Amino acid sequence: MTSIAEERIDRLHTLARRAVADGDEERSREYVRLARRIAERNRCGLPRQFKRFTCDRCDVYLRPGRNARVRTQDGHVVVTCDCGTHERYPYRDGG
Ligand SMILES: [Zn+2]
Repeated sequence: MTSIAEERIDRLHTLARRAVADGDEERSREYVRLARRIAERNRCGLPRQFKRFTCDRCDVYLRPGRNARVRTQDGHVVVTCDCGTHERYPYRDGG
């Protein structure tokens, strides 16, 4: 069962990705911030893929090859935002 909040977050995820593809990172930040607010208000959290590909510092949606670099290190994936912030997570966790 998917809640309305989750559907909205899912849509914002898509829009944020697309905004970065269009080179509009500021717009992607607005979508990311909005999705975070919805997740907070509804206590449903953000999907792992969404959380993972958003920068904790500047809120931009991260697209490897576009505005982020991805490398693997010690069984972890490290995603680096253009602002210099790293996101680090295990390579294998089923998702
Ligand atoms: Zn950043």
